Amino acid sequence: MKRIFFIDLDNTIYFTRQNEEQLMGELYRFLESVDLGISKEDFRLAKQEMLRTPFLKVAEKYRFKKETMPEVISHLQNRFVTQPLKPSDDYHYIKSLIGRKFIVTAGFPKQQQSKVKMLGIADDFEEVHVVDVSTSNKKKTFEMLIDQHQLNKDDILIIGDDAESEIKFGLELGITTFLLDPENLHPNAESTFRGSDLSSLHAAAGQSN
Ligand SMILES: [Mg+2]
Repeated sequence: MKRIFFIDLDNTIYFTRQNEEQLMGELYRFLESVDLGISKEDFRLAKQEMLRTPFLKVAEKYRFKKETMPEVISHLQNRFVTQPLKPSDDYHYIKSLIGRKFIVTAGFPKQQQSKVKMLGIADDFEEVHVVDVSTSNKKKTFEMLIDQHQLNKDDILIIGDDAESEIKFGLELGITTFLLDPENLHPNAESTFRGSDLSSLHAAAGQSN
């Protein structure tokens, strides 16, 4: 049975699409107010991608104007979510797992911490770790947690929607993984377990009766 859970935040505990205005409304308006140097159509497409892809990757792909980026990044580093967010309908499957739960999420710390607060779930977790992807990654954070808390890898289940991040790094460390893939975006990705929702999570954790 798994007793320790490393859990992703974005599009695992809640879905960005169901919370678009609370999460992105103010950012969209800010981005409209600066010169990104891209067409209206590209801006529309970039906004769609921001819901599922880290902002800096989107900025690179759509070639946001370099001169504008320091202002944008400073805005992102200081923004936080101030309106309540809605956890996913499946969140109860995570909440009801028995054991120690850690959120491991990538992004800007103030923003990620404010999401946890606005989701009203902070008390469900032992710790929240925000990974700065410019200097680290989730693999290093998983290793740090294992070391710091003297955890046994066999007791751990990693839960997330990113086949290229938490799932891949988890498997590389020999940890059991559960890939949440509601839109079947990663049909060929490796994962110990997978689901289009979290209804089989307790079985994957060995906690179903
Ligand atoms: Mg995610």
